[in-house]
Amino acid sequence: MPKPANHPKNERLEMNDSSFLKISDLQKNYRVGRRVVRALDGVCLSVNKGENIGIVGESGSGKTTLGRLVLGIEKPSAGEIMFDGGWLGHRRPLHLRRRIQVVQQNPLSTLNPKRSIRQAIEQPLRVHNVVSRCQRKERAAELLRIVGLAPEYLDRYPNALSGGQRQRVALARALACQPELIVLDEPTSALDVSVQAHILQLLADLQSRFRLTYLFITHDLGVARIMTSRIAVMYRGRIVETGPTPEVFRTPRHRYTVMLLSSVPVVSKNEEELRPEWPWRRRLVEGELKVSNGCSFAPRCPNALDQCWSTVPVIDPMGPIHDAACLNPSGAIAPPLQPKPLISSSSQQST
Ligand code: ADP
Ligand code: MG
Repeated sequence: MPKPANHPKNERLEMNDSSFLKISDLQKNYRVGRRVVRALDGVCLSVNKGENIGIVGESGSGKTTLGRLVLGIEKPSAGEIMFDGGWLGHRRPLHLRRRIQVVQQNPLSTLNPKRSIRQAIEQPLRVHNVVSRCQRKERAAELLRIVGLAPEYLDRYPNALSGGQRQRVALARALACQPELIVLDEPTSALDVSVQAHILQLLADLQSRFRLTYLFITHDLGVARIMTSRIAVMYRGRIVETGPTPEVFRTPRHRYTVMLLSSVPVVSKNEEELRPEWPWRRRLVEGELKVSNGCSFAPRCPNALDQCWSTVPVIDPMGPIHDAACLNPSGAIAPPLQPKPLISSSSQQST
């Protein structure tokens, strides 16, 4: 694997040692044929206990990879993860695995179609020895009740359930381990909008009831806005902006966040007024993604300065707990716009 690019560390976050989850300079490379895909490129993030942090960004930005590394499903290429004051390696003892659980977009990826709901929920109870053998049945029924399903569902199979019911079972299964941190990877993206609202409400209720910490991965900024208290915006394997959710929605500083927010559907005039304008309408062409040796967003950014093409921006404080890695953040006094040359004139196409 090639050495990763020299990326700036977020020292501001690294100073916060009391965090429940602390991710430092995390990198993950995948080899695809002769190519190396840099899925995570120096991610730093601190999460407090009981926090619900949204990880947002377009498809391919590295959100799922980050979740998989936190879960220990995959091994980082470099960097480290601390959890509750201890180092979290790739191979984890059972007691650590119990404390961090996952709910994925497609519950069928964790529910075996050949196993009844009872078997699915009793398995983690048995593996982690959460309750005695004779209490398992009762506990499984109680877990179903907690997620809003009647105990009759215990004898059904995943295929006989609707998408929303399956997601409730996936949650019950995760809760069976009495976790402290749950990685929610697009937990409602596959559901109908009406069902989605119910599951989001359930997730919010469970979080306060059990004092859970959520790493809430979503590409849907509307969901992140109502569910999370803080968000981290990812672009091409890096966190480019973090801050309290209302503040980032009101005053996004990274141009990529501005772009994302400008495409969120709005339902009211107030929201329409909050939505930032995005002046750049030209469609990106394939080769352009490779052109910048500096900020990876420079090729898409209408406000890129000369130095954006050669300097990787460090995370800078934009507010008490609001950071962005941008050399020309939104809200700052920007110099006049100048068109930037792309890597080759043949790749310049306008729409
Ligand atoms: P997201 O969840 O934000 O859509 P992912 O974490 O799934 O993004 O992927 C980030 C990048 O890593 C993408 O370019 C994706 O193609 C690549 N990637 C993820 N998993 C693998 C893998 N197992 N092998 C090769 N490339 C991968
Ligand atoms: Mg994903």
